[in-house]
Amino acid sequence: MLPYATIQEAETSLGRSLTTLETTWFNYTSDMSDYIIYCHNILFLFLIFSIVPLFYIFIELLFSNHVTRYKIQPKVKFSVYENFKCWFNVMKMFVLCVGPLQLVSYPSIQMIGVRTSLPLPSLMEIISQLVVYFLIEDYTNYWIHRFFHCKWGYEKIHKVHHEYSAPIGFAAPHAHWVEVLVLGIPSFLGPAIVPGHMITFWLWIALRQIEAIETHSGYDFPWTFTKYIPFYGGADYHDYHHYVGGQSQSNFASVFTYCDYIYGTDKGYRYQKRLLQQLKDGSKGDSKQNGGSYASVSDIKSE
Ligand SMILES: [Zn+2]
Ligand SMILES: [Zn+2]
Repeated sequence: MLPYATIQEAETSLGRSLTTLETTWFNYTSDMSDYIIYCHNILFLFLIFSIVPLFYIFIELLFSNHVTRYKIQPKVKFSVYENFKCWFNVMKMFVLCVGPLQLVSYPSIQMIGVRTSLPLPSLMEIISQLVVYFLIEDYTNYWIHRFFHCKWGYEKIHKVHHEYSAPIGFAAPHAHWVEVLVLGIPSFLGPAIVPGHMITFWLWIALRQIEAIETHSGYDFPWTFTKYIPFYGGADYHDYHHYVGGQSQSNFASVFTYCDYIYGTDKGYRYQKRLLQQLKDGSKGDSKQNGGSYASVSDIKSE
């Protein structure tokens, strides 16, 4: 809850007028407890998990002819009902695990000092903190994910996430509840090391989920702005990890490619890319038909 009773009081305390955004924040949160402000995350996560993947379903339904060439595994198709089933399973996990985790994790947010007060953070502060959060989460997630690919971790826990060898947007958070809980830790590490404003925290959780949905979308569009982010893995990168499945010792990182490069766990992916390139160079007509998919690589294997 804000420590000011009125806007005038806030302006006197800050020694300047409030910006439009700060006035909006004041009006919205002045009577709200910090706990309720934090719990907005549950609503944001629900909306993101439910709405963002719809974008990929709609373009597949409405513009199939135009987007099939960007589908990473074009031979695999999921019906609307199968998508809905996946969403329903994710929602069950959301109600039983993600939601309650958000509700009880508030003390840790208080402890690390995520603030809700004025002034609001500058754009530069938000961006720099988000970069740090992404880097910390990516590095930690890499090692946890790699551990999940040991025999025990895969069989007991991680197998659930790999049920989709050709992932779809709704399958991004589809995982065993233990994985959901454990992978929640890296998400909190960044804000714990570099605590910021609640708005930055909201943005962090939202952007990370949107990124996960994009990398599981099954589509590798050349026009997404994420193509301009240095060392960004993207859909093609993570799709390969799902395509190989339990045997995969490649592409463990969730966001960037540098961890897999440093620790030598991108060799399988690079090999497949080279093989695919050779296939394209050898028979351009065929590769156009396959849309540059891994399916064409598996065709080489089976020959
Ligand atoms: Zn995996
Ligand atoms: Zn995945």
